Amino acid sequence: MKAYDQMEQLKERARLGDINARKRLKRIYQMQQVRKKQKRQRILIISSLVVLIFIIYGTIQIFSSKNGDNNTPVNVTEDSSDTNAAEVTETSSEENSGNQIDLSNIEIPSWIDQQLLPVNEYSRPAIAIEKVNDIAIHYVGNPGTTAKQNRDYFSSLATTKDRSASSHFVIGLDGEIIQCIPLNEKSYATNHRNFDTISIEVCHPGEDGKFTEKTYLSLIKLTAWLCEELGLSKDNVIRHYDVTGKICPKYYVDNPDAWVKLKDDVEQYMIDNPNIQ
Ligand SMILES: [Zn+2]
Repeated sequence: MKAYDQMEQLKERARLGDINARKRLKRIYQMQQVRKKQKRQRILIISSLVVLIFIIYGTIQIFSSKNGDNNTPVNVTEDSSDTNAAEVTETSSEENSGNQIDLSNIEIPSWIDQQLLPVNEYSRPAIAIEKVNDIAIHYVGNPGTTAKQNRDYFSSLATTKDRSASSHFVIGLDGEIIQCIPLNEKSYATNHRNFDTISIEVCHPGEDGKFTEKTYLSLIKLTAWLCEELGLSKDNVIRHYDVTGKICPKYYVDNPDAWVKLKDDVEQYMIDNPNIQ
């Protein structure tokens, strides 16, 4: 209020012809103009800064969202396609350099009937096995079915998509051996041990799951051959039961002595046949 009164007095004095009052009044007006100009400049600078911050923030947002896309769905697809074909080759070459066995190079003997499954997500995912640590024995659990029927069932999962199941080998009631999956690829038989085991499904005539004589002999020969090729021993022959507690292969879970005998027979076969072909 005081400043206002002073201004009014000055104006009055200037109006009455006071030169000093006019000069002061002029200076005051000039100062007011300068202050207004400075205020406008400050507002301009502040709004420019706000706009700049928005632009920088927006750019960061765009870049980070682009990266996010790359990290999620695109890479998932790339990973799964890698595992299909590329990884199979990559890991085999790594195995060569690491003095490991090149699983893709093992020659399959003529007594094994190769009827490989079509590559599909339900029974032959074409995922590479880097190293085989054990051989897992199973029984098909479906008395009287043939090796071919079981092999064809695995193959049909590609279209029915009922469940994921398969095995590297199926041994039939007459001792015939069908190979469904290459040794350097994963099967879907032994749960969390699929990544480092070769699986053998064995047919059986009865509910008790006991193998026929011919089936048993083929199983011993195949397991012994695998042990020789993969640098394993009878201690690396396991049951599905040993992995998950599932009653599989039933007869050899119900009769532990028969299981011990089976492993001994594998060892004996290896001693008698040091170069199975
Ligand atoms: Zn099993």
